Order: sequence, then structure tokens, then C-alpha cells
Amino acid sequence: MIGGAAAGAATVAAPGAARAATGTKRRVVDVVVVGGGYAGLAAARAVVGAGRSVALLEARERVGGRIQSIPGPGDVVYDVGGQWIGPTQDRMAALAREYGVGTFKTYNDGDNVYLRAGLRQRYATSGPLGPIPPEAPGAAEAGAAIVNLNDMAQKVPRDAPWTAAQAREWDSQNFEAFKNANAASEGGRFLLDVGIEAVFAQEPRDISLLYVLFYIGAAGNEDTPGDFNRLLNTGGGAQESRFVGGAQTVARAIASKLGSRVVLGAPVRRIEQRGGTVTVHADGIDVVAHRAIVAMAPPLTARIAYDPPLPGMRDQLTQRFPNGSVIKVQVLYDTPFWRADGLTGQAVGDADPVRITFDNSPPDGSPGVLLGFIEGELARQWSQRSAAERRAAAIESFAAYFGPQARQVRDYVERDWSGEVWTRGCYGGSTPPGVLLDYGPHLRRPVDRIHWAGTETSTIWAGYMEGAVRSGERAAREVLALLPGGSPSTSHPARRRSDRRLTRHEHTRRRR
Ligand code: FAD
Repeated sequence: MIGGAAAGAATVAAPGAARAATGTKRRVVDVVVVGGGYAGLAAARAVVGAGRSVALLEARERVGGRIQSIPGPGDVVYDVGGQWIGPTQDRMAALAREYGVGTFKTYNDGDNVYLRAGLRQRYATSGPLGPIPPEAPGAAEAGAAIVNLNDMAQKVPRDAPWTAAQAREWDSQNFEAFKNANAASEGGRFLLDVGIEAVFAQEPRDISLLYVLFYIGAAGNEDTPGDFNRLLNTGGGAQESRFVGGAQTVARAIASKLGSRVVLGAPVRRIEQRGGTVTVHADGIDVVAHRAIVAMAPPLTARIAYDPPLPGMRDQLTQRFPNGSVIKVQVLYDTPFWRADGLTGQAVGDADPVRITFDNSPPDGSPGVLLGFIEGELARQWSQRSAAERRAAAIESFAAYFGPQARQVRDYVERDWSGEVWTRGCYGGSTPPGVLLDYGPHLRRPVDRIHWAGTETSTIWAGYMEGAVRSGERAAREVLALLPGGSPSTSHPARRRSDRRLTRHEHTRRRR
């Protein structure tokens, strides 16, 4: 039991003096969670729900990770990170219900816009090609490629893609090779490019075909197979609904219930495993626990020092799991003027740098907000330009898709996720060729007392909030099954010490 450790931590100060000479606080708990995104929060609440003690250490001064909802003018809330929820994303939907957070449908009435080489078309997504503009050059080719991808995805086991019969063949090529083999026309290739960029914020050249197939297969639940169109669609797809008050609302509610178990502003620097315990060292606080759950994207886990060091395979995995590149921009207008033209606000095209847009207005449609994504190579290029240049270029993209009224801007916000120190790229990580095949089993395999969560480790809706929640719940089940039996930590000898939780304010004071 932890008692041993804490007796190791006998130095662990008694209540009232639970601070080492260095000013570092110390807690003793059953489970320590690193990272306060949806994965870490879901893990922490599951541990608490099982009657065990937990401490969650989060580097930022807020929870939510890749999800952040910030107030705009009036009642406007800008989700600068992830925002949508769709069918088969059941665990996230259940959490929202539990915490009383409502959802509303993404505005989706009217036609979409497709703009390519100066030619603008309107189209409905109710046709046989779904999200693909049916009159676009190469549309039939792109549609056939998607049917093919969906069939192939069903042959990839979600929990072990590397065991698929054709895993070696599919993980030996990038999506670019598949695209070129399955779409001869420039138009068909462009449509597949935009589809991959929209889902991964990576270029087709960056990603393994096997990873794309895994990801498509993961876009469903236990009863519903995954489907590429579910990733791309608004109605019936991943972009179907938004959260009232923003997607961070559920995260804040979970954190508020967890109370002082959540320690903000506590970047974890080092994790030590010794003598049957794990000690997590963060700025201002050390936590001793039976088990640790590290809940973040694989490359971020490698920025923590481990003692003893991680096995070579785990470390090499983290060197091969890059995050995508995305800049999310939002423009506020007096009204959603595109609606009066019978448009959904959704556009796809080459009016760079924004290639994908959505209507992101508040639930009552007033004022109007257009959202645009700058993804992959364009995000890499445009992140190096000045904020003023980006803003001007993004507004010109909106004007190309929706007309000159798009220049009547009231407010503009953007977030470049590559610049975020505790994220370093979005929407998530994905693997280039060869990685799933050789390193796949190390994605979730615990390293002694360290367990891994984060959306990238999920077998369902990897890359989404749903995957994050599921990964946290799975990691919690893993650690709960391994905790020493007997009475829960409420009767643990070290409990009094673990009760000495550091509040955020206390912690901030100590660090000054
Ligand atoms: P994270 O949210 O990244 O959480 C990891 C946490 O760990 C962070 O809080 C971070 O600060 C913390 N951390 C990192 N290092 C340390 C350290 N050393 N010590 C302590 N803490 C640390 N998903 C959807 O479902 N729908 C969408 O519409 C959607 N759109 C997106 C749009 C954008 C622009 C972005 C950026 C993402 C989008 N996503 C969307 C993806 C979604 O945001 C993620 O899948 C999900 O939030 C990941 O949660 P996580 O808990 O796994 O990781």
C-alpha cells in the first residue's frame, strides 16, 4: 500500500506542515492523473466514483486541454478548440447530460458552396455523394474512393489495426499513394486532399493508409461500424451539434465536482517509479500514488522525464506520432447574412488559406459567426505570417466563398494550436507509414505503474472528445483493477495526508 511509500514519505509532513523545505507540497493518493483534458478528467472522475483517492495535475491554469470556450461580445462564446459532437459519440453525450449541458444543432439549412479555380457552385449534401459536391470535377472518383475506404476500414480491427490481414501492405504506404492510385483526375485528388486535411489537419503524404483506415473504422460505436462520411458530415456526422455555452462547459463542470483534487498550473516534469509506488513531480507539488495515468497526446508524454527511463519501444513510438497543424479562425458579423442567400455557411474550396468553413453562430442565430480552418501545409505556412496578414487573408477567403458582405467584420479571433506549449498541434496525433505495424501495441501498454490515456489511445472516435473520454475511462478501469484490495483509500493510513489538498490559490501563492 501507499503507506510504505508515504512512509518513504515519512518525511511526508504531517498535516499542517505538508510542505518540504523546498516549498514543494506533497500529496499521497491512490491514483495520480497527469493532464486535465477530457481524457484526464474522465479518468479522475471514474477513480473517485470507485471510492479511491485521486489528484489531477494540469499544466495550464484551466482544464479542457484542446477544448477552450472563451467569451466574445454579448452572449457569443467562441470555441477556439474542439466544439462538435455527433451521433455514436455516446460517452461524451452521456457526460453532457449528467452535468446538465445542452446541445444544439449546427446550422445546416440550405446549400453548401464549392469553389475551385474561380468557379463557384452551390450544392445540397442530401445527394448520393453526401458531403462531396456532385458537380465538382472528379466527384465520382472521390466518391468511389470513399466507398472503397469504408470497405477496407471494416477489415481493420479497431483495437489492433496492426493485426489486419493487409496491415503490412496498408501501413507501407501513405494516403498520397492510395489517392493517386484511386483518383486519376486533378479534381478527384483535390477533393480527397481536402477531406484528409479536414479530418486530420495533415497532408495525405503525412499519414499512413492503415492509420486512415483505423480512424475511419473508429468513427462509430460498438453497434455501428465507422464510416468516412460520418467524419465529414454535419447532419448525421461528427459536426452535427454544439454545446450550449461551449464545449469546455462539461470539462469545467467535471473539474468543479472534483474540487481541490484538481491542481492547476502544475506542469509535470518528472515521474519516478520506485519501491512499489509512483511519484509524480510537478511545479510546486509532488504526488505519491499506487498508479499514474498520463492523459495527453503521445508526443507530449515524451516531454516528461521518466526514472527509470521509458522502454525504447515506448519512447520511439512517441517520436513517430506527430500532431497535425491547424489554425482555427472565427469572424463575427451583425447577422448570419449567408442564411438569407439560402446558404448553410459551409464551404469547401481553394480560396486559401481557409479551405473549410461552417456557420458558428450562437443557438439563436444572432449575431452571425463564420468559422474557418487553415490546415496542414497551409497552417504551417500561415503560422509564420503576421497576425494582421492572416486576418486579412482569412477574411478574403470568407469573401470568396460568401460574397463581399464577409468583409463587414465586427470581431475576429484565431487560435494556432501548434503554438500552444501544452498541446503543440491538433486536431490530434496520427502516424506515418510503418508506425502502427511496429509500435502499435505500445500505444496503450502500461509501463509498470504508468498507464496511458488521451484520445489517440482510444479504439472508438480516436481524435475526438469521445475518444478522450473513453480513453480516460478505460485507463481508470485498468488502474482500479490493479489497486491493492481492501478498503478504499478513505480508510488508508496515508489518507489524512492526502486530504491535505492544495487549492489552486494556495498553490499559486506558494509559487510566487
Ligand atoms: P488534451 O485535451 O490535449 O489534454 C491533455 C492535457 O494535458 C492538457 O490540458 C494539457 O495542458 C495537459 N498537459 C500537457 N503536458 C502536461 C504536463 N507535462 N503536465 C501536466 N499537464 C500537461 N474533437 C471533437 O470531438 N469535436 C470537434 O469538433 C473537434 N474539433 C477540434 C478543433 C480544434 C481546433 C482542435 C484543436 C481539436 C478538435 N477536436 C475536436 C479534438 C479534441 O479537442 C481532442 O480530441 C480532445 O480534446 C483531446 O482530449 P485529451 O484529453 O485526450 O487531450
